[in-house]
Amino acid sequence: MKDNRKVVIVGTGFVGMSYAYALLNQNACDELVLIDIDKKRAEGEAMDLNHGLAFSGSHMRIYAGDYSDCSDADIVAIAAGVAQKPGESRIDLLQRNTAVFNTIVGPVVKSGFNGIFLIATNPVDIMAHVTKTLSSFDRSKVIGTGTTLDSARLRYLLGEYFKVDPRNVHAFVMGEHGDSEFIPWSQAYIATKPVMQICAESKGRYCSDNMKAITQEVKNAAQRIIEAKKATYYGIGMAMVRITKAIFGDESSVLTVSTMLDGEYGRHGVYAGVPCIVGRKGVEGIIELSLTDEEMEQFNKSCDILEEAYSGIKF
Ligand code: NAD
Repeated sequence: MKDNRKVVIVGTGFVGMSYAYALLNQNACDELVLIDIDKKRAEGEAMDLNHGLAFSGSHMRIYAGDYSDCSDADIVAIAAGVAQKPGESRIDLLQRNTAVFNTIVGPVVKSGFNGIFLIATNPVDIMAHVTKTLSSFDRSKVIGTGTTLDSARLRYLLGEYFKVDPRNVHAFVMGEHGDSEFIPWSQAYIATKPVMQICAESKGRYCSDNMKAITQEVKNAAQRIIEAKKATYYGIGMAMVRITKAIFGDESSVLTVSTMLDGEYGRHGVYAGVPCIVGRKGVEGIIELSLTDEEMEQFNKSCDILEEAYSGIKF
């Protein structure tokens, strides 16, 4: 592996720049290129970050660039997109974001880029699928942020509830990053003890009904933030850095990124959030959890929704 860890961000809006700011503060790459259809904006953002270098422990090279800069990049992260117009259907938004991705993925591939695509644009599972289709890259090298952030929110809430460090909470949100996502509670653990068993043994101290409330809180989190401040970006920016570090560090970390299923969980050709092993080659493995029949039904429902949305896109 070359020493210079190079990341290109396409789309320097709230999400792209939260990722950039977190990359800088966590010293997570050596070279950072900013691309946006609004070139002036990308240039301003690069200047702003560069002026912080004197206060950071990082020696990053940061500049506004163009698609030719992707040729030797390790990661091209896409956070470019258009916002939903009032009254616009989900499929219309998808169609417009596919048009945006058409102007991005082609030039990135044409540059000779041979690294990993990291997609944040919503609906993220479908936009990752669109990127896979437009690039013809191997599925391991096209990653959506999936339910990585949702799983972090879940671990935080369970940590608060059980008064346990979230790092010792092992639980995932799976499926679509959106309305049909679900939590396989049979696979949620505090250390090595199942959450449901802790509830059952707690003589009413902990109640599985509270898990339903936590499910709702995880699902509604983004909406609540959007209501309060119009958009969410810091959390997703940090989730993207977490994935970036897993790649550069060849960590083989388990993260619920969105990946294309090829027989895992009985599904083929659909992008969804599942526990994946993430390392230098991207998604290096998928962990097939032992879901209950009911959880499997929820997973299939989520995949059906994703499949149907993707199949409506005209390329
Ligand atoms: P934003 O409007 O602030 O930024 C979007 C940027 O994309 C703008 O700077 C715009 O100029 C740029 N852009 C548009 N078309 C382009 C093109 N053809 N080429 C290059 N750049 C182009 O939006 P945001 O708040 O940063 O959100 C970006 C995306 O991230 C949205 O789709 C949002 O829904 C998504 N998001 C995802 C998650 C997640 O968990 N995956 C969380 C939050 C937001």
